[in-house]
Amino acid sequence: MCKTELLNPEPSGIHHYITPPALGKCALKAVQSRCMAKNELEFVEWLRRCGRQAPGVELPIGDDMGQVRLSGEKNAAGSRLLLTSDMLLDGVHFDTSKHRLSEIGRKALACSLSDCAAMAVRPVAALVSLALPFGLDLEKAKEIYIGMSELEDRFKVTILGGDTNRWKNPLVIDVAIAAEPYPGIEPRTRAGGRPGDEVYVTGKLGGSILGKHLSFVPRVEEARRLAECLGDKLRAMMDISDGLSLDLWRMCQASGVGVIIDESKLGTVVSDDAMRMAFGDSDAALQHALSDGEDFELLLAVAPGVENASGVTLYRVGTLCEHGFQMQRSDGTICDLPPKGYVH
Ligand SMILES: [Mg+2]
Repeated sequence: MCKTELLNPEPSGIHHYITPPALGKCALKAVQSRCMAKNELEFVEWLRRCGRQAPGVELPIGDDMGQVRLSGEKNAAGSRLLLTSDMLLDGVHFDTSKHRLSEIGRKALACSLSDCAAMAVRPVAALVSLALPFGLDLEKAKEIYIGMSELEDRFKVTILGGDTNRWKNPLVIDVAIAAEPYPGIEPRTRAGGRPGDEVYVTGKLGGSILGKHLSFVPRVEEARRLAECLGDKLRAMMDISDGLSLDLWRMCQASGVGVIIDESKLGTVVSDDAMRMAFGDSDAALQHALSDGEDFELLLAVAPGVENASGVTLYRVGTLCEHGFQMQRSDGTICDLPPKGYVH
């Protein structure tokens, strides 16, 4: 995983980040990705526009998972299928010179499971595709799958297949997951937030590069409990993969709303690792909590005044409003907050 930093503000409000040069191999990948990042949102929008919209498509490109109705007719009777895939690259999302293959395999499955959590749906089956470097023999590659087994058992997801290839470049792992709605629970999207909704996260944020990005447990079970207990008061949800402020900005864009982040509340979600990375500087630690990627906590918009009886710990970080992307400082002043995080 690459630590990211602000590079250039863009008129659109999205910012580009590059990895500090000291991170070596990661830096090259991040600079390459910067070119793609410039038009990431436009690219997704282009994909959405030119993609074929089959009659059964209920959630097209743009959320944590897509959804189709298997009968082929929108809103008809019949099962719904949700799909996601995540591609992880050596030097960007993991580092084979530092991390064990079992840890890397576990992370690859966990990232796609986190998308299931984001939608509050039940993972069913996975496809795992590997691009193995020539130097990595198949016996060793088994460790990737061994690392996945803990999460397969825990979330009852079955690996049905995939593809394995070899090339001269570093390891690439892609995990696709198929999921279904839980009985009686509607999948959540990023798009349901309304002005006045309270914004929460499910855990402490920042500094995941120190270890959490490999060891996190995807919030699949918490998402189910939250959706069940909060019902339609849980209006929007996603997972935090690229940093709180950037992902919250994406939720606001999808919902057509703005947000005011509360700095004093945000202080309660700064992780110990964020403090460690900031050498105890609380302002710098706050920035880590706001913009570091790969926390894989849930980000929720909940109708105001709703009691949380789910048993899932929630941390309030702000309130949705009509428009704008702002922070209320501890001294009461309000300032614009440039969305910052990892862009692809
Ligand atoms: Mg996601």
